[in-house]
Amino acid sequence: MAAPRVYLDYNATTPVLAVAKAATNDALDLLGNPSSVHRFGAGARQIVDQARDKIAALVGAKTGTVIFTSGGTEANNLAILGADRPVIVSAAEHDSVLAPSRIAINGVTIVPVDADGVVDLAALGKVLAARPGALVSLMLANNETGVCQPIHEAVALARAAGALVHCDAVQGPGKLPVDMDALGVDMLTISAHKFGGPMGAGALVVRKDIELNARQVGGGQEGYRRAGTQNVPGIAGFAAAAQWWIESAIDLTAVGQLRDRLERACQEFGATVFGADAARLPNTSCLTMPGVSSETQVMAFDLDGIALSAGAACSSGKVGPSHVLAAMGAPPDIAASAVRVSLGWDTREDDIDRFIGAWTALYRRKNSGPATRLAS
Ligand code: PLP
Repeated sequence: MAAPRVYLDYNATTPVLAVAKAATNDALDLLGNPSSVHRFGAGARQIVDQARDKIAALVGAKTGTVIFTSGGTEANNLAILGADRPVIVSAAEHDSVLAPSRIAINGVTIVPVDADGVVDLAALGKVLAARPGALVSLMLANNETGVCQPIHEAVALARAAGALVHCDAVQGPGKLPVDMDALGVDMLTISAHKFGGPMGAGALVVRKDIELNARQVGGGQEGYRRAGTQNVPGIAGFAAAAQWWIESAIDLTAVGQLRDRLERACQEFGATVFGADAARLPNTSCLTMPGVSSETQVMAFDLDGIALSAGAACSSGKVGPSHVLAAMGAPPDIAASAVRVSLGWDTREDDIDRFIGAWTALYRRKNSGPATRLAS
């Protein structure tokens, strides 16, 4: 019998939690448009309103308004383009922040990151001084490397310059506690499918006094800031996943230890771990296999029943140089052999044993002959 498949791609998407599946299915059985005045509509509206409270609680937004969207990409687009301000982003942001920034009517300035992928705060301070009243968009944690950004420090600089701060926290819930009020950001993006909810549901949480223009018009839903009938079943599943994380208070220390173990095993054979010296998500590793391309690794691991990804892999089939690793100054030939391994809350010791076994075997095959451990 074939060994069960091992899924190590939680930063791309996660399994849907049983509670989220049940809530989504229950909502599918409900008839009613949340905008309708009659009782059917009121039932759907109640699901959406209760979900708003749960999402706000998940991200510690006591005074925020939750705007439901189709996911993280849409929420990021809404924040960047709806704010109608000059935009300042780090070079390591997700494409769903970088692409709208490039078409923002008031222009964009890209701030460099250091070799660990952490934004250069001195450079950010200089740019803020030159662009008063801007919107800074800085991610909580990078999807490729897991590197966390110094949000508190960036907020302090932004406040001094009269700027707003948006935080793409898509990789936060399920991996890190997220507290929007404590972070002090004005807008925050999350996405259900990254922490056990269904795909197609996300939110932009916005501080109450922030002016934000709709990007999608043609209806009064979401306080006129996002037109279109809400995805009630998706939102129900999103809220159930949020509630699960609030109640289960899962500690990812053990996941972090598994991640560290796999990194140590690969480093013995010369693997480079990107962002190793920075604060990182406990579940994420972006690491190289010397001499073996990312694509070859992803395909070989897949044949071995292990799922991981080359770079971001957020858009289907995308295989190309990583702008994140390039921004960190990684030499192209080294970056070309990087893969992302992202563990989940239910990843077990066996899964990591399988990964290490497959990694070592592939390294041996490709580097002909027995694997040579580096002298320590
Ligand atoms: N932002 C980050 C950091 C992400 O990792 C992703 C997806 O991987 C997104 C935004 C986009 O989220 P969604 O897939 O919900 O559109």
